Amino acid sequence: MSNQEDIQRFEEQHHLPPFSDFKTLKKEGTRIITHAQGHVIFDNDGNAILDAMAGLWCVNVGYGREELVNAATEQMKKLPYYNSFFKTSNEPVARLSAKLASISPKHLNHVIYANSGSEANDTIIRLVRHYWNLKGHPEKRVIIGRDYGYHGSTIMAASMGGMKAMHEQSASEADFEHIRPPYGFLYQGNQSEAQFAESSARHLEEKIHEVGADKIAAFIAEPVQGAGGVIIPPKGYFDHIQNICAKFDILFIVDEVITGFGRTGNWFASQTMDLKPDLITLAKGLTSGYMPMSAVMVSDKIANYLIDEGGEFFHGFTYSGHPVSAAVALANIKLIEEEGLIRHVRDITAPYLAKEIKRLDSHPLVGETRSFGLLACVELVKHKSGPVLFDPIGEIGMRCRDHAINSGLMVRAVRDGMILSPPLSFKTEDIDITIEKLNQALDDTYTELKK
Ligand SMILES: *Cc1c(COP(=O)(O)O)cnc(C)c1O
Repeated sequence: MSNQEDIQRFEEQHHLPPFSDFKTLKKEGTRIITHAQGHVIFDNDGNAILDAMAGLWCVNVGYGREELVNAATEQMKKLPYYNSFFKTSNEPVARLSAKLASISPKHLNHVIYANSGSEANDTIIRLVRHYWNLKGHPEKRVIIGRDYGYHGSTIMAASMGGMKAMHEQSASEADFEHIRPPYGFLYQGNQSEAQFAESSARHLEEKIHEVGADKIAAFIAEPVQGAGGVIIPPKGYFDHIQNICAKFDILFIVDEVITGFGRTGNWFASQTMDLKPDLITLAKGLTSGYMPMSAVMVSDKIANYLIDEGGEFFHGFTYSGHPVSAAVALANIKLIEEEGLIRHVRDITAPYLAKEIKRLDSHPLVGETRSFGLLACVELVKHKSGPVLFDPIGEIGMRCRDHAINSGLMVRAVRDGMILSPPLSFKTEDIDITIEKLNQALDDTYTELKK
């Protein structure tokens, strides 16, 4: 038996991968990715696939970057591990903390590390409770999130998120509330953008009145909801949201796990959208996915209060502030700076993607296209007028995605939306190929449906 067949068998008989229906997976099989270079991933059947998802929203600088590999190798030789529990830390973490403080909004200057976006959000939940306890408001515990919000898959992060299917194994429901997101495709109707911004934000105010501001610790939002289907808020939405948070003394948490590190044409979407969060969640693009690492940026208001007040924050992980991950993060940030990737996104590829994706609008299967920075979604519909969605939701999207992958384009399906989140190093030619292949996948899906 060949080595490749062994690998396939080991995988399918012994691995239970994330977010999978194990029964379906057993029937359909798993694709083994063997290597990757630039923007292309390769599988063990010899297929080359253009990665328009940057892995899972994370490989911002593309694959095969020697600078990151060398940073990891050198750090592993020098100091592969040491903890930050014993009044100890390490050089890469100290440097990275200062760097993150310098590129994030001015009022955020302290960092707490973890290893995944989920862990960073769990850290935030514990931190805001610690904060309100010290402030003499232990009853301020509830965190309000949004439907279709994604904040990770630990039990607390999943409960804070708004993915209904994940709530079956939820933490205490009393601790989390959810409001309707500013999802224009479903909810805008004939409201103007300004009206829709106002009416969407009003859901927060209504929820606050329902729960009681004295019980609410924080509101959390992704600037653009990623895993929820690239839901882009109308202009002005977050101005209303921030005013409401300030009015009721509720902390404002911005989950930038996807939008951070250049994807919206600035280091952070908080800068693109002029947000003033109390806390920011970072992960994914922090290391371009080369090593697991996440971070919580803490505002001066909170950090200084915790420092002045004292009292141990009983929280941390064995691998918090891992020196190898920090070294890779520093190399990643340096590369983004030296190659001008953020300017490249802002001035060239984001406007280009915004223009080119509109070419799909006329396709009979397309109900809406939208993009923000290097994030985009193509919503498939049964009928354009209405629009009328497919029933059940999700099957046609999955079929279209499979057509795309079979033609050499990696995209993701969320419900019946086709999602793009390419590496920041994508060139306009890569966008051309992406749109062309996506158009072909739409045609293939349409032809199949007519049969
Ligand atoms: C992916 C993601 C997370 C969770 O990160 P993990 O590293 O998978 O735990 C949290 N928030 C957002 C916005 C994400 O996209």
